[in-house]
Amino acid sequence: MTPLPSITERLARNTYHLDEDENHIEVNQEIARRTGTGKLLVRICPAQVYGEAPDGTITVNYAACLECGTCKAMAAPGALTWHYPRGGFGIAYREG
Ligand code: SF4
Repeated sequence: MTPLPSITERLARNTYHLDEDENHIEVNQEIARRTGTGKLLVRICPAQVYGEAPDGTITVNYAACLECGTCKAMAAPGALTWHYPRGGFGIAYREG
């Protein structure tokens, strides 16, 4: 029996159509810092979209987003603006 591919191998089969004109994720740095949402985002995102700079600023690499919605569901009100990429952009899953 052929072993199932790893999650990393399966994710590598997806393609991403990057929208270079519109970032679909924005962090309100002040609210994210005050509520702890920034550090939460860094921990929970399965694609490591969020990072924390040495000065505490939350960075966003929206090109890696899997559109799972976890960050949107977990962020404190006002800390995050998230919407799906515009039509034709974003991730295209190959395996459901
Ligand atoms: S939608 Fe999912 S993959 Fe995209 S930034 Fe949020 S948690 Fe990360």
